[in-house]
Amino acid sequence: MSSDLLVRTPAVQSKLPAVGTTIFTVMSALAAEKGAVNLGQGFPDFDCDPRLVGAVTQAMTRGLNQYPPMTGVPALREAVAAKVQALHGHRYDAGSEITITAGATQAIITAILAVVRPGDEVIVLEPCYDSYVPNIELAGGTVVRVPLTPGSFRPDFDRIAAAINGRTRALLINTPHNPSATVWTREEMLRLSQLLAPTEVLLISDEVYEHMVFDGQAHQSAARFPGLAARAFIVSSFGKTYHVTGWKVGFVAAPAPLSAEFRKVHQFNVFTVNTPVQHGLAQYMADPAPYRDLPAFYQRKRDLFREGLARTRLRLLPSEGSYFQCVDISGVSDLAEDAFCQWLTSEIGVAAIPLSAFYGDGFDQRVVRFCFAKKDETLRLALERLARL
Ligand code: PMP
Ligand code: GLN
Repeated sequence: MSSDLLVRTPAVQSKLPAVGTTIFTVMSALAAEKGAVNLGQGFPDFDCDPRLVGAVTQAMTRGLNQYPPMTGVPALREAVAAKVQALHGHRYDAGSEITITAGATQAIITAILAVVRPGDEVIVLEPCYDSYVPNIELAGGTVVRVPLTPGSFRPDFDRIAAAINGRTRALLINTPHNPSATVWTREEMLRLSQLLAPTEVLLISDEVYEHMVFDGQAHQSAARFPGLAARAFIVSSFGKTYHVTGWKVGFVAAPAPLSAEFRKVHQFNVFTVNTPVQHGLAQYMADPAPYRDLPAFYQRKRDLFREGLARTRLRLLPSEGSYFQCVDISGVSDLAEDAFCQWLTSEIGVAAIPLSAFYGDGFDQRVVRFCFAKKDETLRLALERLARL
């Protein structure tokens, strides 16, 4: 046999043929190449609280460097359960209902793999975060896409109701919402609760931006609604709350029977999550100030950014929560959203994300997303450049 027949990589039939590199990675690479201000990918350009780094460092120097319990460090699970109870009035059992995960991304795929079987339908509300659809496909599920109301991005309960049938295993929601920066109201959560009550549909509630809700509004966690909490995997991420997106630590709160199934998958796709970071977070969470003060911290940045954008020909959409601000580009350009973002990055020096990236069919509504989790000076530099539009 000739050597090139012996040294050969077998062909693989892709399990995700439609998937390429994520838009966040693509736009961050372009921003770096062009020296643009990166308001594309969602992450802070400022550092976290040094006390948090100190708490993690201390855990490392104390020798807390081996595997933690599979479900997470008990003190951190207890801190999460106490916080959820204080904020939302629902008591999760730290032992059987809270699991520490490698960020929200692993939490979401693990929940999906735990409950979705081939042939099951899972409803996503578009636009939606880019990992949901491939996660459902990897589980062998069928993705059912229901649009949020065009223009307002509010949930359309008639359309959600029409999408539910006997094969529907789960519904994924996300509030505060990436990318539209809308926040579900108490009335909307109540409607969802009523809608799901007679069904067997599970809820996966992505609440990673739970502590970024503005203008005196409150985050309406699924934990506040007993009918939803009883069927929900609630997912959050310390990366967002504490400005440490690279640490990749999050959690899932779910009733014991759902948590038990979640943990069966969790123990074989990640087993455990970074020990010293968990200890550091547990200690840091004893002080509520960092998450209590987060809405005001981000609202000020939002307002600074919006004031500047209001002086451009970009049209502002509301930003009720999250660290995103969407703008309508139709007064500025005839380009499609993705071409506009490439142009904006290369020619104006500011990176943004096209909303079309959050739709399966690439729906283009002439809206792009900026991330304002940036130092004031970064936002000012971006605004100076955007003023040229
Ligand atoms: N869901 C949403 C809506 C997000 O914006 C993000 C952040 N990229 C995630 C999940 C993933 O969070 P993590 O970085 O903790 O995996
Ligand atoms: N959640 C972040 C965003 O929406 C990006 C995370 C990622 O790069 N996957 O921008």
